[in-house]
Amino acid sequence: MKQERLINPPRISWRVKIVIVSLSLAMAFIAAWISVRHDSLFWVTAFFVLTLIAIRIITLRRPCPECAGRLTPRWEKVSDKRGGYRAFLDCPRCQIAWTDGVIHVDD
Ligand SMILES: [Zn+2]
Repeated sequence: MKQERLINPPRISWRVKIVIVSLSLAMAFIAAWISVRHDSLFWVTAFFVLTLIAIRIITLRRPCPECAGRLTPRWEKVSDKRGGYRAFLDCPRCQIAWTDGVIHVDD
């Protein structure tokens, strides 16, 4: 990539946030209820896995702010005492590596 540029976090209005939170709570409640009824943790586990996948897709599936092209996610290790990773979204067309500037540290 020729250059590195800062990408803004996706803008979500508070109404959309409320809808997402309510839906998630309702889904979590239904999953918990089914699990209690069937005496298994399968549905709770399935719910959390699906939620994580959805968050991943929403945050990673973004168009390039410059050309609206498809971005390729990439993780790069940070050479620093604490370690961690930085997430990049590469645009092959513009040769721009978009980053949120956040260093993700796994404990
Ligand atoms: Zn682009």
